[in-house]
Amino acid sequence: MALGEPRYLKVDDLQVGVYDVSPEAEYFWSQVAERRVVIRYCERCGRYSHPRQGTCANCFAGGLTWREVPGSGTVYTYSTAYRAKDPDMTMPRTFALVELADVETYLFTEIVPAEGVHIGLPVEPLFVQTEQGVLLKYQTRTN
Ligand SMILES: [Zn+2]
Repeated sequence: MALGEPRYLKVDDLQVGVYDVSPEAEYFWSQVAERRVVIRYCERCGRYSHPRQGTCANCFAGGLTWREVPGSGTVYTYSTAYRAKDPDMTMPRTFALVELADVETYLFTEIVPAEGVHIGLPVEPLFVQTEQGVLLKYQTRTN
């Protein structure tokens, strides 16, 4: 299915291309707006999966449900960018794959602050209110 042309929004200080939102993505972000992290869960095989999708990547069952998770985890891998094409962007920025605790799945996100990130760093969700809505970023775990 073609996504069509994106709309461009200034989110935080990032220029973001936005496509039509899938029902799975819409629900995920509605929960982020309520300061909750929810992950798809397969009732048949008991696995969590992210990104959000309609069928289980493990057993191909449909009808996945949503479960709220604490969202904390550890940095599995990351990349830090020090230069941006847009001179107005705040740099550096670190993006990471976070291994979520207890649910055996991963979530791609931005880690703030960008400096001091390393593989294995314990992190937790950070809900950032912007003019366009709530963003889900991660920060070093505080407890
Ligand atoms: Zn399954």
